[in-house]
Amino acid sequence: MAYNALYFIFALLLKIPKDYEAVIGIETHVQLSTLTKAFCSCPYSYGSFPNSSICPVCMGLPGALPVLNSKVIEFAVKLGLALNCNLAFNSKFDRKQYFYPDLPKGYQISQFDVPIAAAGFLDVDIPLEFGGGHKRFGITRVHMEEDAGKLMHAENGNLSQVDLNRAGVPLLEIVSEPDMRNGIEASEYAAELQRLVRYLGVSNGNMQEGSLRCDVNVSVRPIGQSKFGTKVEVKNLNSFASMSRAIDFEISRQVLLHSQGQEDQIVQETRLWEEGSQRTITMRKKEGLADYRYFPEPDLPSVILSQEYVDAIQNCLPELPEEKRRRYEKMGLGMQDVLFLANDKNIAEFFDATLAKGADAKLVANWIMSDIAAFMKNEKLTINNIKLTPEELSELIGSIKGGIISGKIGKEILFELLAKGGSVKELIEKKDLVQIADPVEIEKMVDKVIAENPKQVEQYRGGKTKLQGFFAGQVMKVSKGKANPGLLNKILLVKLNSKS
Ligand SMILES: [Zn+2]
Repeated sequence: MAYNALYFIFALLLKIPKDYEAVIGIETHVQLSTLTKAFCSCPYSYGSFPNSSICPVCMGLPGALPVLNSKVIEFAVKLGLALNCNLAFNSKFDRKQYFYPDLPKGYQISQFDVPIAAAGFLDVDIPLEFGGGHKRFGITRVHMEEDAGKLMHAENGNLSQVDLNRAGVPLLEIVSEPDMRNGIEASEYAAELQRLVRYLGVSNGNMQEGSLRCDVNVSVRPIGQSKFGTKVEVKNLNSFASMSRAIDFEISRQVLLHSQGQEDQIVQETRLWEEGSQRTITMRKKEGLADYRYFPEPDLPSVILSQEYVDAIQNCLPELPEEKRRRYEKMGLGMQDVLFLANDKNIAEFFDATLAKGADAKLVANWIMSDIAAFMKNEKLTINNIKLTPEELSELIGSIKGGIISGKIGKEILFELLAKGGSVKELIEKKDLVQIADPVEIEKMVDKVIAENPKQVEQYRGGKTKLQGFFAGQVMKVSKGKANPGLLNKILLVKLNSKS
């Protein structure tokens, strides 16, 4: 495995930057989180017992008629608008006909020549560790369709069973323009799409459950050539990381063939990404384009949108990731902060709610990204499961800024709030944590520490001035962490430097 992968990466490093260009397009299927399926009233829940959620419509029994779930249209319009697409005010469903054991009707209800949304774009911020920068990727089309069932194969290979629970579950297929040039761009595009459907609430976007599935088309051409190279489809991409690696592997495989004059060995085919061996392998060769004999679905009426309907949805769209990132950027936050906060809808909501209580953006960002993020990671919690509320975080930051408590005490309170909840005011009162800012009181503590450490005082006065930190630490200890650090150091310096 290592040899193969290393060989190709080596070839990639040598060749790609100067001679070749990769062209990548992505087809994404998003499973909609509607309560019921697209054309019947069966519910769908991932992982339920096989064939426990089926009816004559989704089993494709003769004579059963589909009735469209209006939520599917609503979700399609939402996503179409969020992807900056033009909407088709008059579209329709079509039958895409093919035979497969998990497709009992013998056709899939889809949209063919008139998709509900087309010609949009998606803006992405590439993380700094991958070079940074803002990219815009074109969206060719978004259309509605239904999912098929699932085949389950016995391990000994001589028995296959079909589970139709998933048959008829609504999907949106999003087809991108071939605008990506490497694995990172492609995986960042897919991650942004996942964020978008989560922000919109149209899908849970979970790749592991198959709620977000990406098929990637990769081709390579010599730089300067306008004609596309032969494209290869890569499937079985279960995470953004594997997507990025699979694409980079596929690019280097094709570049190697090109550079050896063997580009005729790049054929139109579907390849599977093998996570174990970190490479793509041939799954099936494409024997020309399949003829699906599309025709308009006779059992469903046209999909007509009114301007009022579209406007109502437009007016209810939440703030989308791209808008959020630009807003955070204008607050003066760095791109790393911006991406961390905006990437997760729930973290962004927590951040915004804390700001709404009057806290300073940069300070809130720091607390969330450092101690709060570390706590969530250690305890395997999401921001929705921690006991700390935005109100209390704002109160805590305000208490430190206002000098009521020291930063050190602030951290202690934070961890108590994260784990147990409660209010900042109560904790300060109950534990007597108010910062000591009375110079007389601090002076007493300084005197005590100086009197108890004569040897160190002598060393300090003999020139070992870095001992100041030691004294400051001792005084802080005496104050149980409550002394105002600025005042403490000021008084300490005066005392240490006076000759008496
Ligand atoms: Zn059904």
